[in-house]
Amino acid sequence: MGKPLELKDQFGRVFPYLRLSITEACNFRCQYCLPNGFQKPCDMNFLRRNEIINLIKAFAQLGTKKIRLTGGEPTIRNDLVEIIGAIREIKTIETIALTTNGYKLEHQAKNLIDAGLNAINVSIDSLNADKFKIITGHDKLQSILNGIFEVAKAKHIKIKTNSVLLKGINDDELPNILRVIQNNNITMRFIELMRTGDNQDYFEKHHVSTNLMLKHIEEMGFERISRDKVAGPASEYAHEDYKGKIGIIAPYSKDFCSSCNRLRISARGELKLCLFGDGGLDLRPYLQSENQIEELKFQILKALKFKLPTHNLAGGYTGSTKHLAQIGG
Ligand code: SAM
Ligand code: SF4
Repeated sequence: MGKPLELKDQFGRVFPYLRLSITEACNFRCQYCLPNGFQKPCDMNFLRRNEIINLIKAFAQLGTKKIRLTGGEPTIRNDLVEIIGAIREIKTIETIALTTNGYKLEHQAKNLIDAGLNAINVSIDSLNADKFKIITGHDKLQSILNGIFEVAKAKHIKIKTNSVLLKGINDDELPNILRVIQNNNITMRFIELMRTGDNQDYFEKHHVSTNLMLKHIEEMGFERISRDKVAGPASEYAHEDYKGKIGIIAPYSKDFCSSCNRLRISARGELKLCLFGDGGLDLRPYLQSENQIEELKFQILKALKFKLPTHNLAGGYTGSTKHLAQIGG
């Protein structure tokens, strides 16, 4: 028997983690992502459930262990529970995760968990309701927090939050975060604002490095913990006085790409080798039937040979991504 096929690039990185966007649509208007709201394109032909499942079967056969469903806003899809249920049937997938703005979570949590979800990232850019509304366009903070507490009732679900760090808006919220993690076992992560095709001016005004935040928490005695193989891009920090953790996602840091362990698929079925790369390989022609899985695997492995060692964000190059709702962040 030959060696099993494996998702490994020419720099020795392996990719057990797939981020899959299941829609570009979103109901929020986050200032840094879709400040004018989602503009409906003429063609809303996003991946169908059978295409998603064929795709994940192929990735699973290539060693993928963790699937993150994202968007746009993935909970907008009416068949989200069915999608999660179908992924659960693929036995080698160990983690089914969701990234969501949480606007329906209060009511959806139980169904998602019963279907097989076992990790969730909820975006909360501020723990101050007024600021939250200014950033996202929605007065939903309390409902989202209720949703998180609903999820927390199921003890086995990993809960993380994402806050994009914004200079002059929410860069003073570390004390709020510390209050939450003191008694709650959740990981609250700060993401450094990324420049995309559409947000150049906003980026110039609000980008701030996460270095200062990191310095503060290290001075408080938080210590970095080691990553597991399918971990996301955050460096995580723990402290014996706090039940929860703090995460920092710093895409501009020099070592960010060397630990890359994830590939991305857009809601239209394009394989994206990097969040900040150009174009993508259209896998849709190979997703139409289970009989095409061998060809699909071949195409994925062929494309992986072209994954570059690093993005060039520091040089101001953001690739073809206009905003992260297009590809899932
Ligand atoms: N709608 C869902 C949500 O907001 O969680 C999933 C999609 S969203 C694109 C995924 C993550 O990307 C969110 O945590 C969001 O805050 C983050 N994000 C979007 N645009 C970003 C940017 N320009 N820089 C950094 N993070 C960004
Ligand atoms: Fe929508 Fe998420 Fe983008 Fe906010 S960050 S506009 S919730 S896709």
